[in-house]
Amino acid sequence: MVKQTIQIFARVKPTVRKQQQGIYSIDEDEKLIPSLEIILPRDLTDGFVNNKRESYKFKFQRIFDQDANQETIFENIAKPVAESVLAGYNGTIFAYGQTGSGKTFTITGGAERYSDRGIIPRTLSYIFEQLQKDSSKIYTTHISYLEIYNECGYDLLDPRHEASSLEDLPKVTILEDPDQNIHLKNLSLHQATTEEEALNLLFLGDTNRMIAETPMNQASTRSHCIFTIHLSSKEPGSATVRHAKLHLVDLAGSERVAKTGVGGLLLTEAKYINLSLHYLEQVIIALSEKHRLHIPYRNSMMTSVLRDSLGGNCMTTMIATLSLEKRNIDESISTCRFAQRVALIKNEAVLNEEIDPRLMIIRLQKEIQELKDELAIVTGEQRTEALTEAELLQLEKLITSFLEDQDPESRLEVGADMRKIHHCFQHLKKLLHDKEIHEKNTVSSEIKDQICQEPLKEEEYKKLRDILQQRDNEINILVNMLKKEKKKAQDALHLSSMDRNEFRHSQSSPFPPGNPEGPKTLPSSAPTQVHDSSTVGYRSSSLHRKTGMREEMSLGRQEAFEIFKRDHADSVTIEDNKQILKQRFSEAKALGENINEARSKIGRLKEEITQRHLQQVALGISENMAVPSVPDLQEEKLRSQLEEEKKRYKTMFTHLKALKVEIEHLQLLMDKAKVKLQKEFEAWWAEEATSLQVDSPAVKSLDHTKPFHQTPESLHERPQLLSNKSDANARKILPSPCPVTYSQEQNSTSDSLDNSIPKRPASSIPLTGDSQTDSDILAFIKARQNILQKKCFQ
Ligand code: ADP
Ligand code: MG
Repeated sequence: MVKQTIQIFARVKPTVRKQQQGIYSIDEDEKLIPSLEIILPRDLTDGFVNNKRESYKFKFQRIFDQDANQETIFENIAKPVAESVLAGYNGTIFAYGQTGSGKTFTITGGAERYSDRGIIPRTLSYIFEQLQKDSSKIYTTHISYLEIYNECGYDLLDPRHEASSLEDLPKVTILEDPDQNIHLKNLSLHQATTEEEALNLLFLGDTNRMIAETPMNQASTRSHCIFTIHLSSKEPGSATVRHAKLHLVDLAGSERVAKTGVGGLLLTEAKYINLSLHYLEQVIIALSEKHRLHIPYRNSMMTSVLRDSLGGNCMTTMIATLSLEKRNIDESISTCRFAQRVALIKNEAVLNEEIDPRLMIIRLQKEIQELKDELAIVTGEQRTEALTEAELLQLEKLITSFLEDQDPESRLEVGADMRKIHHCFQHLKKLLHDKEIHEKNTVSSEIKDQICQEPLKEEEYKKLRDILQQRDNEINILVNMLKKEKKKAQDALHLSSMDRNEFRHSQSSPFPPGNPEGPKTLPSSAPTQVHDSSTVGYRSSSLHRKTGMREEMSLGRQEAFEIFKRDHADSVTIEDNKQILKQRFSEAKALGENINEARSKIGRLKEEITQRHLQQVALGISENMAVPSVPDLQEEKLRSQLEEEKKRYKTMFTHLKALKVEIEHLQLLMDKAKVKLQKEFEAWWAEEATSLQVDSPAVKSLDHTKPFHQTPESLHERPQLLSNKSDANARKILPSPCPVTYSQEQNSTSDSLDNSIPKRPASSIPLTGDSQTDSDILAFIKARQNILQKKCFQ
């Protein structure tokens, strides 16, 4: 970094008239610092002739008097700046002075002689000369040429058109990036590889500027021109690129508007000039003051473009052009004053270096390859990018043993191969990561298990409660079912008894319907069904209905009834009748089958006879014969069989009809005996229950003369019952044994008897009168007393 103030130089334009001499003088102080003393003529100080001499001294870096040629100016002013630019620093040389003071002559040069070449061509020449001399670096040169007129920028190097006026040139605008770097939009950069190309660009710009200028529009004096040389340099093989810019600035005339004293367009132009330079002066003043934070660069385009040149990263030089004629004294003094302020500005020029990524990549690749080659030479092996499978496996084994080793002094030795070291770190990282995931999963699964267990416990508890409830319900249902089954079994006994009664009335079914008198009236289908007693369904018993015996009998009473019936004399009769009835049913069934068979045979014989008859008729017709007078023997035989079968059918039918009568009778007898037995039991039961409520002596005082309750049937049947000492006597009133099952008898008669039969005193216990029999009954009663007490009052 180079810190220095803006260098100020003064150049005095040669004067034509010699009377201008004596107005200024150039001296050096003891420090060899030159100073310009401007002496005001006496007639100019206050307008009157007096002896007062007034002078102003201004110090400059150097002061070039009228005889200084362009070469001297370049060598002393521009060349040092060009050298710094070649070194990589930004540089600016600007000429400041009133119109006609020689700014353009100094910066660009005179148009007549080659020796009048100004700073720009000389600098270009110098730079390209240096570039050619310096083979240690690679340089790239670009040229831009900007004119600022009335705060508008114009690209003087636009090659696309020939400008007829300044407004025809592309306008250049200012852009500022976030880092406050200024970018000039639409300002073209033109590479110049040689001095000639660069000079051509300079003359192109000057030509455009000249063409655009008209006599009425003295743009050349009212505008600022900035010729910029962009120089890039880098050492061969280096990624570092240096960028430097050299601004060569030809400012507009610094004369004041008031002094100009013109109006109209010129006034406007003068105002702009004044304004633009005013802002430049403000920036200069601001920069020259200490602790000034804000610098008003943005106030004008010119100060914005030259921001780096003024108080920034630039080595800046000012040339104050002076036309020290008598009439220009004020402006010359003003220019010198301006220069004095500029001289206070300190710049900090730095090398503008940046890394070229493309070049850096190339350089690094090259370096890597060199290092690889060097490493291969040292280690004796050529390394590849990746480790082999065997090497990876070996490394992981080493890591595993290292981790398992409890010795704190153990080390993981993988050598000086960075690939292996990196792989070890990566593998350890992976193991750590996997472990974390595993622990996380384990914890989460445990939490999940805990979470799940709680609901499971709750669920299991609920399930057990449900099962318990279910079991309770099942128990209740089973108890109810048991009760219902008891009732159902008792009902079944009832119904069975009633069905039997009904069966008795439906015994016509075993017999074939229709008229059994002849085969012609017999149906050819629907054979007669012969019902066995076991197939009799549940049918209501009219007898039971009449007696109202539908109440349910308790188990205790059923048991008592079983015993009562077993010991009763009628039970034998009932059992006999039951067997007889069963036998009759079997006979009826067999007879019904024979009848059906006979009926079928009759039908077949009739069909055969018909067919035979038809055959005979057909035969007679075919043989053109009359119906044969001799009867067909075969037909006769068939007819004979038919008749015999009819007789057989009739006989069986008659027999079946007789069986039906017998079966119906037997059923009536059985029903009657059953009712009688039930009534007797109920009477006995009622009396027995009553006797249990009184003391046993009451039993001893039983009325033996009234052994049975007074129902018409019992009264009628009493002699048989009382004399029931033998089965023979009982069978006198039961012509044939009635097959009734013991359980049917028991259940079908027991349920409603206790309600239908009123309570009777103990004296009405059906004793037989026989001492042995009565004692047996009493013994039975006593023996069953405990059981009956428990069960009958449940
Ligand atoms: P400015 O650009 O400041 O308005 P110019 O550079 O155009 O002034 O100069 C005005 C005239 O003076 C031009 O004709 C130029 O040739 C001449 N001139 C200026 N300075 C010198 C000088 N140092 N030597 C010879 N001629 C000069
Ligand atoms: Mg000029």
